[in-house]
Amino acid sequence: MSAPTGQDLAKYERIVIDMDICIGCGACVSVCPYNALELDENGKARLIWEACPDSFECIKVCPVNCMWKTSEAPEEAKSKQWYRFNRELTPEEKQIFEQWKAKYGVKSDPIKA
Ligand code: SF4
Ligand code: SF4
Repeated sequence: MSAPTGQDLAKYERIVIDMDICIGCGACVSVCPYNALELDENGKARLIWEACPDSFECIKVCPVNCMWKTSEAPEEAKSKQWYRFNRELTPEEKQIFEQWKAKYGVKSDPIKA
C-alpha cells in the first residue's frame, strides 16, 4: 500500500513517540511497513505524519515502551515534537491535519526537517 493522500489521511490515528525516553534502537524503524519512521539527527525515532496508516507494529517492538496510539498517549508526550511531514500538504490535507490535532489534543507542531 502506498502512503495515503487527500481525504484518506483523515482515517488514521497515528502514533506518539516520547523522544526523551527513546533509546534509538531502531527497532520501530525496521518494522514499519510504510517507511513512516526514521531516526533523527539525534538518533531518536521520528514519525512522518502523512505516511502512517495505523498498522501499529512499531508499538509492539519498542523495548522501552515510549510509543503509543495517539488516543492513548500521555498528555506530556503529546506536547513534545515527535513528527514531521515528508511533503507539502494540500490545503485539504492541512485541514485534516488541524482536525487530527484538535481531536487528539496534540499541542506540538511538526518539526521542520
Ligand atoms: S503505526 Fe504502523 S505505519 Fe505508523 S509508524 Fe507505526 S509501524 Fe509505521
Ligand atoms: S523502538 Fe522505541 S526505543 Fe527503539 S528507536 Fe523506536 S521509539 Fe526509540
